[in-house]
Amino acid sequence: MGKALIIGAGGVASVVVHKCCQVPDVFEEICIASRTKSKCDALKEKLDGGRTKIQTAQVDADNVDELIELINDFKPEIVINVALPYQDLTIMDACLATGVHYLDTANYEPLDTAKFEYKWQWAYKEKFEQAGLTALLGSGFDPGVTGVFSAYAQKHYFDEIHMIDIVDANAGDHGYPFATNFNPEINIREITANGRYWENGEFIETPPLSEKRVYDLPEIGPKDVYLLYHEELESLAVNIKGIKKIRFWMTFSQNYLTHLKVLENVGMTSIEPIEFEGQQIVPLQFLKAILPDPASLGPRTKGKTNIGCIFQGVKDGEEKTYYVYNICDHQECYREVGSQAISYTTGVPAMIGAMLIMTGAWKKPGVFNVEEFDPDPFMDALNKYGLPWQEDFNPELID
Ligand code: NDP
Repeated sequence: MGKALIIGAGGVASVVVHKCCQVPDVFEEICIASRTKSKCDALKEKLDGGRTKIQTAQVDADNVDELIELINDFKPEIVINVALPYQDLTIMDACLATGVHYLDTANYEPLDTAKFEYKWQWAYKEKFEQAGLTALLGSGFDPGVTGVFSAYAQKHYFDEIHMIDIVDANAGDHGYPFATNFNPEINIREITANGRYWENGEFIETPPLSEKRVYDLPEIGPKDVYLLYHEELESLAVNIKGIKKIRFWMTFSQNYLTHLKVLENVGMTSIEPIEFEGQQIVPLQFLKAILPDPASLGPRTKGKTNIGCIFQGVKDGEEKTYYVYNICDHQECYREVGSQAISYTTGVPAMIGAMLIMTGAWKKPGVFNVEEFDPDPFMDALNKYGLPWQEDFNPELID
């Protein structure tokens, strides 16, 4: 059917590349382009020889002109941005300049402030509309599948959804004293920020990790879950009609939190540059350089993830609850694509979003979050491409 340009060659990109190669009728040709070309070449070497033709390129995705040159050279239908959130706007600009659809898995963040907001990317709406191009934002798991789950609940089970609790649990063990499951810089910026939830039309802030509950998760058991701000809260608050409250909960072990506290207390999680031996360094970027590479956790991680959404609302005048979730096994992911479940649960939905744009099912001019499209083809594809979901019509609720 067509060509996709994949930007980034990290943990998530590796899964996207594997998954695109499993759907060669749609992804006839892909180009893997990133800052470090050797990582793209290593991926190509692993997957070459199938029906999807693979090429690689070096690109600095902070540089719009370089991106434009690469896109004009390869001529893809879509760019799948699985680099870092800092590159979202330059890649969107390059897509507009070349007439190519766009997809990412994380909202734009300025390098110097940990701010999770869609405002910069939503501001591109008119430009994409006028260009007749689709930009699909946040097509990972959370954000991504959590938005699709919400649209599915809205379409099939509720007249009005009043409350959503998103629960993201990782019961995987990689055997290291401390490591993050995806890019440590992005991960730690997210966790050390204030918590925030949506209630009655406004965001309410909580100190970092101050709200804790215990939730008994299917196939994982009871876990400590902590309230965090997560970017899909912003879009779901706009797109789910009648919504009154949305919260996001993530599991962390005591061991993880103790390490994080120490690193924070000594200043290692700071994003303020400091002077070190005549050079400016950002402590958090230095920490990233010494922590295990998330892409290397695959062979060591055992256990499962469970990510899902608990809904409360009304159908035909009756109060109703509904829970939909996916369970993913780290070792099974590793056997299939050589990555752990965090990269897998992000990379599969990125491929599915791109596939739906390329096949036309989700092709519409403008800038959209996933919950703005018909969830049914995405839900079917999740079952087909490795992230089957399960439903519970009488779930335990979080107080
Ligand atoms: P990694 O750090 O493993 O990979 C990022 C890749 O982007 C690296 O290959 C890196 O190159 C490349 N890159 C960074 N800067 C540039 C640049 N200026 N130009 C070109 N390439 C660049 O991250 P992950 O794979 O773990 O995460 C990828 C994305 O997925 C992130 O945006 C993350 O926030 C998002 N994510 C979303 C989730 C969701 O559920 N929605 C969950 C997990 C992650 P190099 O190799 O040279 O460093």
